[in-house]
Amino acid sequence: ERILDESQMNEEENVEMSLRPELLHQYIGQSTLKDNLKIFIEAARIREEALDHVILHGPPGLGKTTLSNIIANELGVNIRTTSGPAIERAGDLAAILSSLDTGDVLFIDEIHRLPRAVEEILYSAMEDFFLDVVIGKGEEARSIRIDLPPFTLVGATTRFGSLSAPLRDRFGVQLRLEYYDVDSLVTIVNRTADIFEVAIDPDSALELAKRSRGTPRIANRLLRRVRDFSIVKKEDSVTLETTNHALKVLEVDGLGLDPVDHRIMNTIIQTYGGGPVGLETVAVSIGEEVVTLLDVYEPYLIQRGFLERTPRGRKATAKSLDYFGSRSEIDIFR
Ligand code: ATP
Repeated sequence: ERILDESQMNEEENVEMSLRPELLHQYIGQSTLKDNLKIFIEAARIREEALDHVILHGPPGLGKTTLSNIIANELGVNIRTTSGPAIERAGDLAAILSSLDTGDVLFIDEIHRLPRAVEEILYSAMEDFFLDVVIGKGEEARSIRIDLPPFTLVGATTRFGSLSAPLRDRFGVQLRLEYYDVDSLVTIVNRTADIFEVAIDPDSALELAKRSRGTPRIANRLLRRVRDFSIVKKEDSVTLETTNHALKVLEVDGLGLDPVDHRIMNTIIQTYGGGPVGLETVAVSIGEEVVTLLDVYEPYLIQRGFLERTPRGRKATAKSLDYFGSRSEIDIFR
């Protein structure tokens, strides 16, 4: 139960669950990915076979968990959900796999964090639907083969590059989630506002979309906070004035960047002359974890054209000198 833990969800996760679209046509944006997935799902249904294993990769909050549930719903099968760090031993994985029914989806979030010994027993399970499990110790030890029903493994990762080649190659369907464009985020904000039964002015929805870092989870979170300000002001509909005020208080700048983004860029520009500088050095300078910078901050700064990855380290671009170089963090958030 600990491994398939759904009881310990915090409030934020509960809200996210309630916002999750259930079918592919309700899933906004990511049109190329959706078109491909639709064909693969349809073909699996016609062949009456389990869908090939799927790996979903991309920055956090773009909808990987949502998509994995949609895949199961569209296939009309059950889904079991777990994550790489929750599966500590091969036996944990064996227990989950042998509880699956034919065609079921097993979703493993953060699959790049699976322990190596667990990953290795996954290979035969993915390829030929059997497990080789060693039971007993020393001279008593023997290996038994457990046949599994055909199933679909859906893995999600923010670090496609960290997957070992043997694991990566066993995913027949590899899908990359992109940051959302502003139009898609406007649709997502309006959809969430509908579910929350909050009226929102069109220019407020647009402003939130622009300042959500291309990420639905952030758009939904900002909308919740902005709604609080609007309720206190007793507005009938969330206004642009309230939205701008709330985002200022929340320290989200005009491009959706927060104080950590500013600290990263200011450190590179001011302390290290624009770089190149190692990400570890930047992390230590600003007191953040390297993994947080790698997964959460860097991809968006690169996508916006502020940061460059070079063989010698991270470099600030000319565009970033314009945006960050001349202003201090204080100016931007006041
Ligand atoms: P993580 O990788 O951190 O687990 P994730 O990519 O799995 O994140 P989700 O939890 O699936 O992200 O999505 C975050 C929130 O954004 C959810 O509340 C979900 O409903 C919403 N969301 C994500 N993608 C879409 C979409 N395409 N259309 C509508 N809502 C979406």
